Amino acid sequence: MAEPIDPLDELRAGLDALDTAGLRRRRRIVTTPCRPDTRLADRDGAVLAFCSNDYLGLAAEPAIAAALRQGSERWGSGSGASHLVSGHYAAHEALEQRLAAFTGMDDALYFSTGYMANIGVMPALVGRGDAIFADKLNHASLVDGALLSRAELIRYPHCDLGALSARLAASSAPRKLIVTDGVFSMDGDIAPLPELLALAEAHQAWLLVDDAHGFGVLGPQGRGCLAHFGLASPRLIYMGTLGKAAGVSGAFVAGQRDVIDWLLNKARSYIFTTGAPPMLAEGLLTALDLIEQGDARRAHLNALIARFKAGLSLQRWQLLPSDTPIQPLVIGDNHETLAVSRALDAEGLWVPAIRPPTVPKGEARLRIVLSAAHSAEQVDRLVDTLKRLEATQA
Ligand SMILES: *Cc1c(COP(=O)(O)O)cnc(C)c1O
Repeated sequence: MAEPIDPLDELRAGLDALDTAGLRRRRRIVTTPCRPDTRLADRDGAVLAFCSNDYLGLAAEPAIAAALRQGSERWGSGSGASHLVSGHYAAHEALEQRLAAFTGMDDALYFSTGYMANIGVMPALVGRGDAIFADKLNHASLVDGALLSRAELIRYPHCDLGALSARLAASSAPRKLIVTDGVFSMDGDIAPLPELLALAEAHQAWLLVDDAHGFGVLGPQGRGCLAHFGLASPRLIYMGTLGKAAGVSGAFVAGQRDVIDWLLNKARSYIFTTGAPPMLAEGLLTALDLIEQGDARRAHLNALIARFKAGLSLQRWQLLPSDTPIQPLVIGDNHETLAVSRALDAEGLWVPAIRPPTVPKGEARLRIVLSAAHSAEQVDRLVDTLKRLEATQA
């Protein structure tokens, strides 16, 4: 018989091992609202933050805060029940209608978080004996959704259409689901969606697109990555999140009416959870107005992206090719990446180190995120500091 393991000793040893590998995670306590000029509990003075996904600078927007206050006066705090019991309010319904119209889809379903949307949608669409075709760099929530579905998970190399096509052709699964990030969260590149949709149509597969980082940013009026490419098809299921560019919280899935009705009946992470506070839906309706009228914010953001890329010339560290606000700077080694992140902190700049398992081994990076809330001077300060640090770090 094997010796029994003391489970607490084992956890402690595991934490030590994470420390040694430079992989132990710690949270920092923020004492200001989400904005570039940030204060932290563990440090004096302000830091200039390049880490949130608040792409349009809406997370601390007063008009949204006011809508939330009015929403709380109208609806109180809680929904009291799941949507299917008694927790579906007129504010939720109005939000779903608005999201469907905005994305050009028949219908939409509002989920509490993007993680819950993904783990709910995938098992509702496919199950044992079916096949999911997933980009290797997809977000963790899509991996978890695939595992929960019990369908076979077939991963293809990042954006490799030839490999995907061969795997689709080789599969005899009765139901097929292709799933991809629209904008890859740690790389910033955009998935080849027209080609992916052509493959989905050729193989009678669903194409589920997770647009957590494109919604509000890409396409006319920020309608997202499908609008960016001008795509529409009954095969498409679109997922967007509402805690990033939209600056509030939650997510939605949009598609054909029957698809949405099926999800409403089958997605367990929709059914077995309390509806989000209705006041959030009120805040989100205002956020959607601001996204729709947000051309000036998007133009400013795109100018900052171009300025950052043009300004940053480095020798050893590699800026990945990206035209989105996610600008990853690959340093490679976990410890060196942490050291650079700490050196930036000492200079008053907050850029988190992203390490495995969030990114592949040996590809630790700074995930630099630009926002419409930044100024050109703030971006220049980041560029100048990075250049100087690269030259001085051994
Ligand atoms: C953030 C993110 C999610 C999860 O959304 P939440 O609303 O934060 O739970 C899902 N997919 C991708 C690609 C993401 O970046």
